[in-house]
Amino acid sequence: MDLRSARAALQIARRVAVLTGAGVSAASGIPTFRDAQSGHWARFRPEDLASPEAYAADPELVWAWYAGRYRDVLAAQPNPAHHLLVRLEQQKGAGFFLATQNVDGLHARAGSGTRGGRLAELHGNLALARDEVTGEVFPLPDPAQLSLPPLSPAGHRMRPNVVWFGEYLPEEALRAAQQAFAQADIALIIGTSAVVYPAAGLARDTLLGGGKVIEINPEPTDLTRLASFSLRETAERGLDLLLTEHLNEH
Ligand code: NAD
Repeated sequence: MDLRSARAALQIARRVAVLTGAGVSAASGIPTFRDAQSGHWARFRPEDLASPEAYAADPELVWAWYAGRYRDVLAAQPNPAHHLLVRLEQQKGAGFFLATQNVDGLHARAGSGTRGGRLAELHGNLALARDEVTGEVFPLPDPAQLSLPPLSPAGHRMRPNVVWFGEYLPEEALRAAQQAFAQADIALIIGTSAVVYPAAGLARDTLLGGGKVIEINPEPTDLTRLASFSLRETAERGLDLLLTEHLNEH
């Protein structure tokens, strides 16, 4: 496949399943895990903070890290890649499914999941916390009002509502994503290193169902060899090339 046929394939596809990773939010100023740890946090690996063991050992430390990331994502804005995916959803309606590994909530803030398609936040959301006793999920207060660790209305300690290393993905969201990818004519995999489960699995579901995989990533990934077409571009430029009509095209 070349760019022209990838564009055509996306245009005629009735069902499109999209998987996004941290690269989609890079242009919003939210670092990918590889670039992530700066300043005070430089001496920690994300794996040493985003795990049940880390939280059990030092909940204050883990909450301080999450509170900082929560503050940062609230200050960030969706970028053209998020907006272009909303336009794609508008075109495909119920044939559109977006699964994200991002916990920044930027797809939802751009409007994904409200134009006839579906949005699944497979790894949770930094703006939510979960009662450690009842499992109920609540939005965090504004960062200025946030005291750590946050307590639920019932007075129980809450943990970040994100999926940590070694934890299972939310079952229902994962099942919906697997079904959407298995039925998709095109799986569009954007800005994920595809080493973290379930990225590779979802693209394979599409291939097994007879669909094709298109990847957008400035770097090659483990998925590149499964892809019919790999666009070596940033998310926003790659989506623009794939989805937007260009005046000089004939
Ligand atoms: P990752 O950090 O492993 O990989 C990021 C990928 O994005 C890389 O393949 C890189 O080549 C690519 N990339 C970098 N800049 C890009 C750009 N401008 N456009 C397109 N692609 C670009 O991220 P991942 O695969 O999402 O890793 C998974 C874990 O990281 C997830 O668990 C996720 O929850 C977590 N994470 C989330 C955020 C966020 O919510 N924004 C940020 C950092 C990490």
